[in-house]
Amino acid sequence: MEFEQKINDFMAKIIAKNPGEAEFHQAVHEVVETVIPYIEEHPKYTEAKILERLAEPERVILFRVSWLDDKGEIQINKAFRIEMNSAIGPYKGGLRFHPTVNLGVLKFLAYEQVLKNSLTTLPMGGGKGGSDFDPKGKSDNEVMRFCQSFMTELSRHIGPNTDVPAGDIGVGGREIGFLFGQYKRIRNEFTGVLTGKGREWGGSLIRPEATGYGATYFAEYMLNTRGDSLKGKTVTISGSGNVAQYACEKVTQLGGKVVTLSDSSGFIYDKDGIDADKLAFVMELKNVKRGRIKEYADKYNCKFYEGKRPWGIKCDVAMPNATQNELNEEEAKTLIANGCFVISEGANMPSTPEAIAVYQEAKILYGLGKAANAGGVAVSGLEMSQNSLRLSWTREEVDNRLKQIMKDIHTTCETFGRDGDYIDYVKGANIGGFVKVADAMLAQGVV
Ligand code: NDP
Repeated sequence: MEFEQKINDFMAKIIAKNPGEAEFHQAVHEVVETVIPYIEEHPKYTEAKILERLAEPERVILFRVSWLDDKGEIQINKAFRIEMNSAIGPYKGGLRFHPTVNLGVLKFLAYEQVLKNSLTTLPMGGGKGGSDFDPKGKSDNEVMRFCQSFMTELSRHIGPNTDVPAGDIGVGGREIGFLFGQYKRIRNEFTGVLTGKGREWGGSLIRPEATGYGATYFAEYMLNTRGDSLKGKTVTISGSGNVAQYACEKVTQLGGKVVTLSDSSGFIYDKDGIDADKLAFVMELKNVKRGRIKEYADKYNCKFYEGKRPWGIKCDVAMPNATQNELNEEEAKTLIANGCFVISEGANMPSTPEAIAVYQEAKILYGLGKAANAGGVAVSGLEMSQNSLRLSWTREEVDNRLKQIMKDIHTTCETFGRDGDYIDYVKGANIGGFVKVADAMLAQGVV
């Protein structure tokens, strides 16, 4: 009760200071719920107002991006970079291009990123950025002109020792290429200022695969705690973008069967499983043709559920890999009633707080995004290391490091979150991520 009051008081201040930013409030609430009871026993953090400082970005850059579409008409977008916390390294976090992008969404992502990056054990602070620009339906030339205009402003604020953006929703290899080209042209330097670069020009092997592979390894490590594995498991996945594609690949390689994929129009259910050949079709469809997932159902003669999400399909493991708040309380109950006992989140904050409460009540294995999807930024960190060393590691070397990092994150969650037989990964990840950043902030004084 005493904690509850403190949490409510803390949240009341956050809401008053950041009005209308619902996703940001949600992300902060999830963290303080677990961290406030912990810092009550460690008053040095309370006295130094670490939690208050963590919730205030060090810097927010808000700018206009004007560009010309193919008809010669002027288009205007809003763009942002949130430089959240640099206590343990340069700001690091992706760029999102999607019509739903606004300040509150990017602040939630940047806030989560700080603790996630800390969990990877690599020296990276946290940031996030993006624009309400929608790459869907735009020509390559339009996307290039937008990226060039966006980077013309952003280039003043980033750098390999300051702030190193990467991809996220709507920002893949194509966009990173255009952004890097413009940065290099303006600054006249070839440097590791972005991650997710092409292999021939500074990118790391396994970076495209890293988030999806990492979330799958995390599911495997969670299952191992119960003497189990992904082999023979039925897996539902949402999304069909970068994270979903490589989660599908790795689950299949580890002997699981993926039966769903989705996009914002609906989901496909393939009860025979999405094998390597079918996944190659999805990759061509989504990454080259930029088509809709419905075409999968037409090609492989399976069912497409228009406007629906895949959580009503029976499975052992669910991997929400599309976007925030895409799995609600009712869907969580349905999943569990159908026998699902593992959730590994490739997306950021895909489960609503009510859905998380359902998982925790049922004591299933719940790997929250902050821990389960940290593989992407971890390999971005490895890309930065390789850029500094001016050499490239092999695929096997990067993959082994990724596996080890995911295992270490799992161990951190266990260290801070174990309660008898049950591991509370939410508590474990939030406290584990918090301690390292908080100690660095204490050491660096009031800044
Ligand atoms: P992509 O843009 O490659 O794919 C996003 C997928 O999610 C698409 O299938 C898209 O469908 C779907 N989607 C996006 N927004 C919505 C929405 N509002 N409702 C329903 N479906 C939606 O992005 P990523 O795969 O890179 O990112 C997916 C998630 O993973 C995000 O939450 C991201 O923050 C998180 N993540 C990504 C990392 C990375 O390395 N890329 C690292 C860590 C986390 P459609 O094509 O119809 O829009």
